[in-house]
Amino acid sequence: MFCPTCGKENPDTNQFCGVCGENLIKTPPIQKETLTPKEKRAIRAQIEIKNTEYEQYRGWGPTILIILGILTIWALIGLIFISIGVWWLISRRKKRAVILAEIDALEEELGEEV
Ligand SMILES: [Zn+2]
Repeated sequence: MFCPTCGKENPDTNQFCGVCGENLIKTPPIQKETLTPKEKRAIRAQIEIKNTEYEQYRGWGPTILIILGILTIWALIGLIFISIGVWWLISRRKKRAVILAEIDALEEELGEEV
């Protein structure tokens, strides 16, 4: 027979489990008590309540919030990169204009000398 406590198989002649020492003869087999219709109704009502409770915790609310949060963070990171890019473009254009003016001045200088 199998020990009801540890589950190990023991010879049927054993009074005690060879592994955990459980008394194999004294221990009654686990049997389910029969429920009265009233008790069954009470349990079904509890299941119904739990199902309603379970339904309340379903839905996509938290998941949508997490996705929106991630998208918002990425949008902010994108804005930072766009700002850096625009600033870089403007500063390059300014630098180009300065260099162009310097070339013009140098060419003018050259023209006067020639
Ligand atoms: Zn045992």
